Amino acid sequence: MQPIDGRQIQKDFPILDQQVHDEDLVYLDSAATSQKPCAVIEAMDRYYQEINANVHRGVHSLGESATQAYEEARRKVASFIGAASEREVIFTRGTTTGLNHLARMLEPQLFPGDEVLISIMEHHSNIVPWQQVCQRTGAKLVYVYLKDGRLDLDDVKAKLNPATQVVSLAHVSNVLGIENPIAEIADWVHDVGAYLVVDGAQSVPHLPVDVQQLEVDFLVFSGHKMMGPTGIGVLYGKESHLKELEPVEFGGEMIDFVFEQESTWTDLPWKLEAGTPPIAEAIGLGAAVDYLNDLGMDRLAAQDKDLLAYLWRGLQSVEGVEIYGPPSLEGRTGLISFNLEGLHPHDVATALDYEGVAVRAGHHCAQPLLSYLGVGATLRASLYAYNTKEDCDRLVQALEKTKEFFNGTF
Ligand code: PLP
Repeated sequence: MQPIDGRQIQKDFPILDQQVHDEDLVYLDSAATSQKPCAVIEAMDRYYQEINANVHRGVHSLGESATQAYEEARRKVASFIGAASEREVIFTRGTTTGLNHLARMLEPQLFPGDEVLISIMEHHSNIVPWQQVCQRTGAKLVYVYLKDGRLDLDDVKAKLNPATQVVSLAHVSNVLGIENPIAEIADWVHDVGAYLVVDGAQSVPHLPVDVQQLEVDFLVFSGHKMMGPTGIGVLYGKESHLKELEPVEFGGEMIDFVFEQESTWTDLPWKLEAGTPPIAEAIGLGAAVDYLNDLGMDRLAAQDKDLLAYLWRGLQSVEGVEIYGPPSLEGRTGLISFNLEGLHPHDVATALDYEGVAVRAGHHCAQPLLSYLGVGATLRASLYAYNTKEDCDRLVQALEKTKEFFNGTF
């Protein structure tokens, strides 16, 4: 299989063809948000120019066209993640909204003494909603820690018990780039009768993800990290679960009948999509899915491996670089977090920006993980299909220059 060549697809991303501080832009911050190909921008533009109308409401032609395009986007997403039916795909605002909704929907099933199991490598959006639900219900939030920079699977097994009701884990860590063995963990979780929630924000954009093969109960992800627009995300849930769960948002679109004092709900998936949905954004996400399918997720994953190995070697060649996570590349996807000895990551990121290289610096919305690692902040270089080995070289050169600058030899 031929990996994707980032150079060949850069023409689809005109934003990349610009200079920052008089240097050609190198964008290495796709884990925060990815760039969007013209196909996505044009699909949204077409919606507004040609078929803008609300969905599921009018009987007029524009309304029908908009509804068809919106529901077509849902079908594309369902097939992209291997869902058994499009009724299992709920459009949300993003991963954070998906996790918040899920935590609130599962709240009635949590009681004092119950446990919610998460890992220390979670993004805040997979921590804080569970903290809130645990505080309200008296359930206990239990953490699994790391071993040699990876999720400690013995710790997972040891902490699963009949009190565990929900296990919520990142598929790929947004700080360490480590892929967790979800399919294996799913068996253990189901053995104790708990739900498995997976945060796919960093995996769905990079790896072929099949919810049925992984046997997850719920999967959440964001459109904007997979070449789609902001303001749209997906909450996947097994139909049997979603049928049982009560909505947490109420209003138009989600009702069957409203009486003066009470109401009944319509069918899935609309029962869980109150109000006018993000129509253009869903259509944009559908176009992103088409674009990713055309590239081929297997080829994209192969390119990711190649580029990451190249970046890894490049970073290791810079004296004073400390890479976080396990000491090998195995199971890493999409990104590398690191620091430059003696320099604050924010200073380094600012210096890199002057070289045209965009990376992220900070705690990456994972403060418990950074505390656990004993570090306040890191740099993070994250890759996507439009990146090249030259981009990795530019980062390495810019790091060397940054070191010289701060050492006063510039
Ligand atoms: N989970 C992970 C692993 C992430 O990387 C992110 C975003 O950085 C999120 C959740 C939150 O995603 P969003 O801000 O799109 O809701």
